[in-house]
Amino acid sequence: MSTEGATYDVLDPATEEVVRTVPQCGVEETDAAIQRAAAAQVGWAALAPADRGRLLLRLADVVDAHLEELAALEVRGAGHTIGNARWEARNVRDVLTYYAAAPERLFGRQIPVAGGVDVTFKEPLGVVGVIVPWNFPMPIAAWGFAPALAAGNAVVLKPAELTPLTAVRIGELALEAGLPEGLLAVLPGRGSVVGQRFVTHPLVRKICFTGSTQVGQQIMRGAADQVKRVTLELGGKSANIVFADADIERAAARAPSAVFDNAGQDCCARSRILVQRSVHDRFLELLEQAVQRVRVVNPAEEDADMGPLISAGQRSTVRSFVEDAEAPVDVLFRGTAPSGRGFWYPPTVVRPTSVQDRVWREEVFGPVVAVLPFDDEADAIAKANDTSYGLSGSIWTRDVGRALRVSRGVQAGNLSVNSNSSVRYATPFGGFKQSGLGRELGPDALDAFTEVKNVFLATQE
Ligand code: NAD
Repeated sequence: MSTEGATYDVLDPATEEVVRTVPQCGVEETDAAIQRAAAAQVGWAALAPADRGRLLLRLADVVDAHLEELAALEVRGAGHTIGNARWEARNVRDVLTYYAAAPERLFGRQIPVAGGVDVTFKEPLGVVGVIVPWNFPMPIAAWGFAPALAAGNAVVLKPAELTPLTAVRIGELALEAGLPEGLLAVLPGRGSVVGQRFVTHPLVRKICFTGSTQVGQQIMRGAADQVKRVTLELGGKSANIVFADADIERAAARAPSAVFDNAGQDCCARSRILVQRSVHDRFLELLEQAVQRVRVVNPAEEDADMGPLISAGQRSTVRSFVEDAEAPVDVLFRGTAPSGRGFWYPPTVVRPTSVQDRVWREEVFGPVVAVLPFDDEADAIAKANDTSYGLSGSIWTRDVGRALRVSRGVQAGNLSVNSNSSVRYATPFGGFKQSGLGRELGPDALDAFTEVKNVFLATQE
């Protein structure tokens, strides 16, 4: 299906006003951009590694010079708090800076063999398709395009329908920084049109997808036709495990931001809190105080902790977990949120009736957290692992041995002890089980954007 000529109205989630109307690419434009990217990739891969690095650094500098502009655009076009949006724009700069060093460090190996010399090369794949969700439009785009470009690939990038503005701007900044025309093509459009074409087009050699598990599965099935490489970063239902020996005050004070940051629209959201039974009631008292302190206000305000949800549709999905007429959940307490225009929903803490409840098992992707007690270490690990997801999680304890045992026991890709931070650009990020396939960021991402080539040179006459 072609959607050439179609447009999409990007709304400000805090006011419901149209921020900008964005033209949507159709199949023909997508095909043309892929062809141009394939042509640009040849010259890019042939550049001296230091020159590729220099151009990526230049893009990092240009992004740095536009941090406030990009952040303001994310506040309006995605409802992110200004504090978060600044972090996200800086993250794009930092990821580019980190991978700017990579072209000169894409080392192969020399492997001892008989009769000659054996060396390996890390070859670029060609054109990489990066498909981005709406929850973190800037960082997730950069986690794909920065290492892909550093490894000598070209990139076609599809932002989410709801949040194309910052990606489009970064595409313009790439040209300003001197990246070759067509090398990083940002193509706003529908998933079923532009995204799907990345999957079926033979010149796109790899899909780097972040989004729902359902669409990820669809992409993986489609990629099988061409044995196309995929990296998948999918959903999550991460556990925040608080042991009785932890600093309970600190764990409770930090728990709201671990799940309500970005209005809970975070694949790493710690949306299940597990508290050891002996400190459970005390923890809940402290948690209630902390939830009351969360400032849910206009996201442009400097001290906003949480903004609105992305859309009316997302709000009704979130609501359905809490206000389900057939299976209502027990709301323990709530924070506040503005009323009136905008897609607001207050931070909400619930008590599931059992581990079978939908709110305990499914990704809410909104500001709703469920709390249950556990008895001992084995029970905590079993409850944390009782999910098809495995992305992230936290462990709060003062016992170092327990911290390590539980970290090894929880089946998830990114764990933090006495902290809720999941993402650092220098360390690998990705999911176990149905939370994904492959790793982004850190040194590992470069392997995801290269093929290993082995070359044997005979030395015997
Ligand atoms: P989504 O799966 O609906 O869409 C993600 C992207 O895929 C969008 O750009 C969309 O247009 C595109 N798309 C949709 N259908 C497609 C198709 N048939 N072919 C190709 N592309 C298609 O997800 P969403 O609602 O935008 O994002 C929320 C989800 O993303 C949540 O489940 C969340 O957990 C997940 N997420 C995961 C991570 C992670 O790193 N693991 C990070 C952020 C978000």
